Amino acid sequence: MAHDNPIAKKLAELTDRPMTFMHVCGTHEAAIAKNGIRSMLPGNLKIVMGPGCPVCITPQGEIDAALELAAKGCIIATYGDLLRVPGSEGTLESCGGDVRIVQGVHKAIEIAQKTDKEVVFVSVGFETTAPTVAAMLLTNPPANFSILSFHRIVPPAMQWLLSQGEARLDGFMLPGHVLTVAGIEEYRQFQVPQVVAGFEADDILLGLCMLAQQVRDGTGFVENAYPRAVQEEGNPKAKAIMDQVFEPCDVEWRGFPVIPKSGLKLRDEFSQYDAQKKFNIVYKKVSKNSACICDKVLRGIADPSDCKLFGKVCTPRTPVGPCMVSHEGACKIWHSYPTHK
Ligand code: SF4
Repeated sequence: MAHDNPIAKKLAELTDRPMTFMHVCGTHEAAIAKNGIRSMLPGNLKIVMGPGCPVCITPQGEIDAALELAAKGCIIATYGDLLRVPGSEGTLESCGGDVRIVQGVHKAIEIAQKTDKEVVFVSVGFETTAPTVAAMLLTNPPANFSILSFHRIVPPAMQWLLSQGEARLDGFMLPGHVLTVAGIEEYRQFQVPQVVAGFEADDILLGLCMLAQQVRDGTGFVENAYPRAVQEEGNPKAKAIMDQVFEPCDVEWRGFPVIPKSGLKLRDEFSQYDAQKKFNIVYKKVSKNSACICDKVLRGIADPSDCKLFGKVCTPRTPVGPCMVSHEGACKIWHSYPTHK
């Protein structure tokens, strides 16, 4: 209950006008839903989820590329969340190929060490997972191993959202674990209220208070409400390894157009591990052909419950879009905690 929580009470006092904040993190959405945080918010404060689920923002053309590699006889190794994301024709789970769930890139390399077949690790994630993948590629994996890099980095998507002005956004709650690696510096380019927040209920409420205070003060800068994990410089070692192996590239995000320098591709020195080059894969632009509104959910302009398929045709057992597949997807989270709003 709002009046039982002193931070929620303070937040209600600070919210003296309509405010909308976006977070870009599936873990934040899960924590918000699990703790019933939306029920504690004043009526004029809204928090929406943006493109914070790495599986959800992977466009259909990239899923189709993974399906193409499975059809070519490659062993596909990836995280369980990706298996049920619909491509143009089926999913990795239903494609009939040799598709294996792994906990991480190291397990995919172990598979490659025990077979002569080509093993492709479908590598998904933000700045949090890319350094681990980079570190493993520096260990000289076998020649039958490669990765399909679906990695994305967060700031260019925030830049795009701000430049469009499509969603009314008064500020961003920044993803604590991404900034543990990336650090704060890069986010100082945005002249809007931003607060790095952790994942406990009080972390999130504190972050919202700090955002509301900035709106009242008419300021726009980055504050760190998660200093126990996030430092200004992030993790320089992890960033250096990531930069050694990957370089930024222009990529499409689901629900977004091609965003300049928002993806990570392997540098030329590591091209022997680049499945896209090794197998001549071209990512195709695929037009949306269902009533799924994941694209709008990912841009923060629709709630999962605005979708007419939500909870009816589309459920975690029968997902139509990726936001109902991934445990970091807004639709799956809202479906799991139906009373959280
Ligand atoms: Fe897409 Fe299903 Fe979410 Fe609707 S409920 S936006 S169909 S994932």
